[in-house]
Amino acid sequence: MRIPFTGHGLDRADHTRADPAALAAARANPAARVLELDGLSPMLRPGNALAWRPVADSDGELIFLGLRDGAPLFAPVPAHGDDRPAYLQRPAWREISLLAPADLAIYGGARSLMDWHARHRFCARCGAGTVLAKGGWQRDCAACEAMHFPRTDPVVIMLVQHGDALLLGRGRNFPEHRFSALAGFIEPGESVEDAVAREVWEEAGVRVSAVRYVASQPWPFPSQLMIGCHALAEERALAVDYSELADACWFTRAEIAAALAAPADAGLDGELGDLAFLPPPVTAIARHLLEWWLEQA
Ligand SMILES: [Zn+2]
Repeated sequence: MRIPFTGHGLDRADHTRADPAALAAARANPAARVLELDGLSPMLRPGNALAWRPVADSDGELIFLGLRDGAPLFAPVPAHGDDRPAYLQRPAWREISLLAPADLAIYGGARSLMDWHARHRFCARCGAGTVLAKGGWQRDCAACEAMHFPRTDPVVIMLVQHGDALLLGRGRNFPEHRFSALAGFIEPGESVEDAVAREVWEEAGVRVSAVRYVASQPWPFPSQLMIGCHALAEERALAVDYSELADACWFTRAEIAAALAAPADAGLDGELGDLAFLPPPVTAIARHLLEWWLEQA
């Protein structure tokens, strides 16, 4: 199972981040490259590869992403006062869907970091300005000496099974007919298992047990870690929270297999035909969890 946004293949060269001389040498390396972007969206080169330009052409602050075949790679830090942080920009889904897998993973990590810098220019403890440190993997407050680190926000996303069926939900902003795995942020004081059980209970009124981990995905809009799980439901009766979901339903194995086998443009005209629902897009871990489930005996 190759999940989109995973497998960047870089040597992150962590020791270089804290070493100013090594960082300067990386930046001065003739092979060093900085990511070329349109806003925070990727630009594509032939072969659906990310676009890069020589670091020598760049005079702004840079994030050291790591080494690819020995070549240092960087991403630009958005200009001070950037009024278009990533969380306000619509993802460029066309480019994202075309990017080669390793490049998509490099882009995702870079996007999360760039957005974090744009949104963390001030200290959460004292309000003073912060400055970039550790090659862009930290921001420091000169006033109170607090150190701030890039965020990763854990989210559980789960297949809930009863017999030969799965419980799927429709988000209130989903395209017509699309269903996906239920999901929600892990709250302070919760394990992954606790969060799965709470979210399924809150959103669908279903008690679950036997929660287990399946796979994960970094999701850079802006910085979630999607933790894919499987759980067993005690019964099929639902009490859907319509403030959270547009709907939630049980779908059989045959219905799910048919939905995943349908052409990518199925249902775009609003007509489902023989399908019970439209599945999540290939960029989403939910689709890969459904494929994983169909492969289970
Ligand atoms: Zn401070």
